[in-house]
Amino acid sequence: MTTPWEEYKNKPKTTPWQDYKKKLGTTRPWNYIDGSERADDVVADARYAMCLACDRFNNLTKTCKECGCLMRMKSRLKAAACPIDKWGAVPDVDK
Ligand code: SF4
Repeated sequence: MTTPWEEYKNKPKTTPWQDYKKKLGTTRPWNYIDGSERADDVVADARYAMCLACDRFNNLTKTCKECGCLMRMKSRLKAAACPIDKWGAVPDVDK
C-alpha cells in the first residue's frame, strides 16, 4: 500500500504551463482565422450543446473553465477536442 506522500512523490511533475497546453489540445485560438478546417454546422452545434450542459462551462464568458477557450469558436474547429473528452476531433476520413 502506498501512502499519499508516496503517491505525490511518484506523480509526474508538470508545470502550470505544461498543464495548460495539455488542456488546450492541438488547436490554438488563431486557428479560427488562419484557414484551419471547420467542422460542419451540425457537429459544431452538437459540440456547443454539450458545452452548454457542462458544469465546466462559464455561461457568463462562454468559455471553458478547463482550457479557457471561447467555446462557440473552438467548437467550429474540425481538429478541436474537449479537454476532458466529452467530445473529440472530427476524424479525417478523406486521408
Ligand atoms: S470543452 Fe468540454 S469541459 Fe469545456 S465546457 Fe465544453 S464539454 Fe465542458
